[in-house]
Amino acid sequence: MEAQILLVEDEEKLARFVELELLHEGYKVTKCGNGREALDLAVAGNFDLILLDIMLPGLNGLEVLRRLLREKEVPVILLTARDAVMDKVSGLDAGAVDYITKPFAIEELLARIRVALKLHAATSGRIPAGGGTAGDRTDGEGVYTWQALRLDDRRHQVLYDGHEIALTNREFLMLRTLLENRDIVMSRDTLLNRVCGYDYAGETNIVDVYIRYLRSKIDDVFGVKMIQTVRGVGYVIKSGSDQ
Ligand code: CA
Repeated sequence: MEAQILLVEDEEKLARFVELELLHEGYKVTKCGNGREALDLAVAGNFDLILLDIMLPGLNGLEVLRRLLREKEVPVILLTARDAVMDKVSGLDAGAVDYITKPFAIEELLARIRVALKLHAATSGRIPAGGGTAGDRTDGEGVYTWQALRLDDRRHQVLYDGHEIALTNREFLMLRTLLENRDIVMSRDTLLNRVCGYDYAGETNIVDVYIRYLRSKIDDVFGVKMIQTVRGVGYVIKSGSDQ
């Protein structure tokens, strides 16, 4: 079945152009140019992915994103203006899976859509019961642990000593990648590929931003040093770093 995409963009010419390209790729497309209507559509509908402009009449795209993700989990790619760095950071922090800066090459948007759909299919779990692929560093079924931390992939939940830690999708993916590869130093590029998709063309320092978020939500709160920096290389979570 074709993926259904909600395209939220108030610039009619751009919206028409993107719509035609998406239809050409075989996606089903619903178009909307108003933030408030888009939120209603997105909550009520059954979309596989949402392309969301930020500057919108009715309701700002970031606000649409925040309200939407409180209601349901759906991958959102933001369409942002050039130089709107704070929008990008706030958007990713609010749970968008990616962003693309206008003006963009349609091929790049299509590639990011494919990555987001694939990543979502992978993280929203469907690991068959008793499954888990060989070589997974799980301590049970999709569960990764480090000291008192417990990441449950299937429930998309992270607990520290029983306290739930609210993470955005990307923070979750970053943490899972590090836990999956315990004791292996992960380079920024590798982390970026895993978390943002192989053809992500944004800034690599976005990795450092997520590491900072994770540390502020876990290390700082629980007084541990979970994520170690390996200078000039990247980051690692070590099994034996009990301190
Ligand atoms: Ca706009």
